[in-house]
Amino acid sequence: MMEKKMYIGGQWVHSVTEKTSNVTNPATEEVIGVVPSASREDAAIAIDAANEVFESWSKTTASERCNYLFKTSELLIERADEIAEILTLEQGKPFAEAKGEVLFAAEYFRLYSEEAKRIYGETIPAPTPNKRLLVIRQPIGVVAAITPWNFPALMIARKIGPALAAGCPVVVKPAEQTPLTAIAIFEAFEKAGFPAGVVNLVTGKGSRLGPEFLENQKVKKITFTGSTEVGKYLAKGSADQMKRISLELGGHAPFIVFEDADLDKAVEACIISKFRNAGQTCICSNRIYVQDSIMKAFSDKLAERVQSLKLGNGFEKGVDIGPLIDRNALEKVQEHVEDALNKGAKLVTGGSVWNRDGLAGSFFAPTILTNVDDSMLICHEETFGPVAPLLSFSTEEEVIKKANNSSYGLASYVFTRDLGKAFRVSENLEYGMVGVNDPLPTVAQSLFIGWKESGLGYEGGKYGMDQYLELKYISMVLND
Ligand code: ADP
Repeated sequence: MMEKKMYIGGQWVHSVTEKTSNVTNPATEEVIGVVPSASREDAAIAIDAANEVFESWSKTTASERCNYLFKTSELLIERADEIAEILTLEQGKPFAEAKGEVLFAAEYFRLYSEEAKRIYGETIPAPTPNKRLLVIRQPIGVVAAITPWNFPALMIARKIGPALAAGCPVVVKPAEQTPLTAIAIFEAFEKAGFPAGVVNLVTGKGSRLGPEFLENQKVKKITFTGSTEVGKYLAKGSADQMKRISLELGGHAPFIVFEDADLDKAVEACIISKFRNAGQTCICSNRIYVQDSIMKAFSDKLAERVQSLKLGNGFEKGVDIGPLIDRNALEKVQEHVEDALNKGAKLVTGGSVWNRDGLAGSFFAPTILTNVDDSMLICHEETFGPVAPLLSFSTEEEVIKKANNSSYGLASYVFTRDLGKAFRVSENLEYGMVGVNDPLPTVAQSLFIGWKESGLGYEGGKYGMDQYLELKYISMVLND
């Protein structure tokens, strides 16, 4: 049983209300930890702590900020096993995936330690000889980061790595389901020696703390990853103060397999894209479009691979798929599968709650559905579970139209060996990211971006820095 505190102003603290909440292991449904349940007052105290050090932190040199971030990255690598254990315990994903995530988070901190030194300005040719025109970049101010449970380490790193590198102090609010991973990362921050107040952590309910982030004048920027519903609430709420926001929201990725694709590789890519993290990623494929002529071959091969996937507790050897995050998630997946079956979909494999030996845990068997059509919920809403709906198409034009028929615009995937088709389809997809023969497009040094209702702003690579910097224009007349 882990009993932990929040980190505010360089101290590990309880909530001022002394209230706590439990953390549960989704594989066993046992309580594994207890953390503070922060009140608005706690959030306000954390924001004050961050605000007090804004000036001093923003004036540190790039090398100083680089050193803190680099040290954090090293500490995460050193403690990767230990943090990954905590992550699997509270989130459920297989240990190997959890460790991969912690190392990926370390990579983001490493990348942003480097980017701290590349906050460049520009000089612009002036209209008269005695003028000088400059554009410089300056940190926005206190940043509030709200993160989800599906990547509890990675999302913190991708948001606050660039914020800290830019010179912004931060207040992080992790998802209620996964505060322990956040706490482990903050232990690394403490060890890395960040000055008190630069990094702050409040654990508690989004619905309680969100309003404080929106209304508190000292918060200059909110960065959020989570549902489109909460993203829209934050976008509306931030208008009053013209607060800067970055939103990474839901997705409904089309995964398009043309008949000229390498079938084995496309099947393997589908397994990765669809079943990683039990299908609980915002970039995982939601609609798998397969060209008519290869539908049977693709679906047979996929079924064979899916049946070989091992479901279970993320600590068991060889487990590919862990539990869903909780019972609500399980119910949503069940609802989508039942709705599809009622409307004529065919079950190829899986399809039910998996309850081995009557054990607790929110497990759902990896599932394939064929005969899927647009009337089904699964074609429009995020399932966030291990269900692969297969839809057939005959022409390139048709599939682009179908793929774009979504209010979401995050990731998309195309499988073909035809270079012309790869370019045409990539350019015609109304999505922020396209993986061509690539189920894992996300890397630290590149862009992560959602179009349409999938987000506002972007993250990753050098691009991520922009979100925490304001441009300033200086026009100067020189004295004689
Ligand atoms: P999910 O449905 O995947 O849990 P949410 O959008 O509800 O996605 O949660 C993502 C993050 O947003 C979590 O940290 C959650 O606590 C937080 N959150 C939920 N509701 C609000 C809100 N009203 N204001 C701010 N944050 C919120």
